[in-house]
Amino acid sequence: MKNLIVLALLISIHLTGYSQKKKYPKNIILMVGDGMGVAQVYAGLTANHGKLNLERCTAVGFHKNQATDDFVTDSAAGATAFACGQKTYNGAIGVDASGKSIPTILELAELNGLATGLVATCSITHATPACFISHQPSRSLNENIALDFLKTDVDVFIGGGRKFFTKRSDGLNLADSLKARGYQIANSITEVQQVTSGKLAAFLADEQQAKFSAGRGDELVKSTVATLQLLSSNKKGMFLMIEGSQIDWGGHGNDTKYIVDEMIDFDNAIGKVLDFANEDGKTLVIITADHETGGFSIIDGDFKTGMVEGKFTTGSHTGIMIPVFAYGPGAEEFSGIYENSDIFHKMMAAFQFKK
Ligand code: MG
Ligand code: ZN
Repeated sequence: MKNLIVLALLISIHLTGYSQKKKYPKNIILMVGDGMGVAQVYAGLTANHGKLNLERCTAVGFHKNQATDDFVTDSAAGATAFACGQKTYNGAIGVDASGKSIPTILELAELNGLATGLVATCSITHATPACFISHQPSRSLNENIALDFLKTDVDVFIGGGRKFFTKRSDGLNLADSLKARGYQIANSITEVQQVTSGKLAAFLADEQQAKFSAGRGDELVKSTVATLQLLSSNKKGMFLMIEGSQIDWGGHGNDTKYIVDEMIDFDNAIGKVLDFANEDGKTLVIITADHETGGFSIIDGDFKTGMVEGKFTTGSHTGIMIPVFAYGPGAEEFSGIYENSDIFHKMMAAFQFKK
């Protein structure tokens, strides 16, 4: 009898342990290094003397990123797949292949009462951030995309693109409209750092921010820290997308130093996010890219000196698989090989959102 009770106890402890095994995050932070293939990651790692914060991730997978109309995706079709869970045509912003608007993970997070944010080192209306909040047939419609920022109650956004809000062909001043909706407006990183609570719309450039090495400096790291502080006050959780936008531009320019500088800057932001996730314990971090840019490869390097010798096969994007790195509760779901659109479905499952 005594043995039976002990056995029953052991089984119940085992079953309880089993049912608690699957952990769900409260927060999801998706980080997109635009144009960041394996060679871009490894160039940054080599230049950084053999190490990156990215290496702290515990799960690694790959996504297949073909667009519906082209083997090689652009950032718009790529980000729409992440944001909405459907593949679409190149240039599409939050719409499916037939042009129909599809809800984004940021909009669904907002509907579920979570705090939401977008941070980028390019115009906030540029393809990658736009796909999380806007629905437009073409990525070139910057002024329409800016108007869409007033349709979703996003809590924080930080990027360039001020002119699409304030110097518009229709004469509207959307910065005033944002203010009327309760947003604090910041026009520099110093002003961003002065905001300690509430909603924030920050414009760090009239159109695109400078390169890291041409004056932008550590604005991405500072923006990341400020956004984490603002969004983490929501007890229900957050969805935040952070983009290292200009790794792609280094690839287009076949410029190894540009890639390396932007990669290390992005990795410094990754470090801040992983520190936050580590301390918080309820944050899932997913780090990936939309596509590779430049057909970049490394033909020589030196961890000691940080020297990287790169070589390029194109000035455009390429169609190869892209790595996905994950950390935190549910990270293991991101290992394996799957479609770029599955990242949305995996995030939906992690948030336990109903479709
Ligand atoms: Mg982008
Ligand atoms: Zn590009």
